[in-house]
Amino acid sequence: MRNIVILTGAGISAESGIATFRGPGGLWEGHRVEDVCTPEALTRDAALVHRFYDLRRAALSTVTPNRAHEALARLDREWTGKLLIVTQNVDDLHERAGARRMLHMHGELRSALCAACEARLPWSDALPPGTVCPACGAAALRPDIVFFGEMPYQMERIDEALSCADLFVSIGTSGAVYPAAGFVQLARQYGAATLELNLDPSDGSAWFDETRLGPAGTLVPAWVDEMLSANRT
Ligand code: NAD
Ligand code: ZN
Repeated sequence: MRNIVILTGAGISAESGIATFRGPGGLWEGHRVEDVCTPEALTRDAALVHRFYDLRRAALSTVTPNRAHEALARLDREWTGKLLIVTQNVDDLHERAGARRMLHMHGELRSALCAACEARLPWSDALPPGTVCPACGAAALRPDIVFFGEMPYQMERIDEALSCADLFVSIGTSGAVYPAAGFVQLARQYGAATLELNLDPSDGSAWFDETRLGPAGTLVPAWVDEMLSANRT
């Protein structure tokens, strides 16, 4: 067992106090998904979409990484084989816990994207619609979030990592959002073993060799201990 790819979703940040995607009634923080995370919504009501992500960005300063983020950061530090944490989350809790070998496939709250020149800028404050891009001068900065219908980031790097993975682990994701939901099948085709750690069985549970159910803050540290002690023997 040398190479690991880990996919994380909103469930890993739930115990830090960040709401998961489909809360009560299928709403995300009181909004229908199509009203805040589609390119059409941005065109129709930029003020609503920007304000929604401004609130999510501001909330980051009120939360901290939990034991699951910390355990993955430890695995990243100590694992001598290849490792890649692919997060669907737009929060920054993995990196604040110290993880380095990671990427945000659905963008980041603390980043702004220029719709005109594709420049990306670290962003920690509110981002009003019409904010001018310092790189090209167009009034086109938007939240650096991959909306439904847009291509996730770094798909080639993810595919490359899956192609040489011995183990694929999915943590705290409902398996409802593609292409991430298809990684387990891809990993299997490439010959990796597959493990799911989640509170409830996900839509794709049947694809995993093993599923462990429980809160990430308990399951992830236990799994990381297992991996690191097996690696030492
Ligand atoms: P999801 O809300 O669809 O699914 C969350 C999953 O986590 C569920 O299967 C649930 O059973 C599980 N879960 C809940 N609490 C848990 C816990 N304590 N421990 C372990 N598992 C737990 O989220 P998703 O699959 O990530 O997909 C939704 C999309 O929403 C993503 O693309 C993401 O960009 C976005 N999103 C991100 C954040 C964030 O950045 N923290 C929050 C909400 C939504
Ligand atoms: Zn620009």
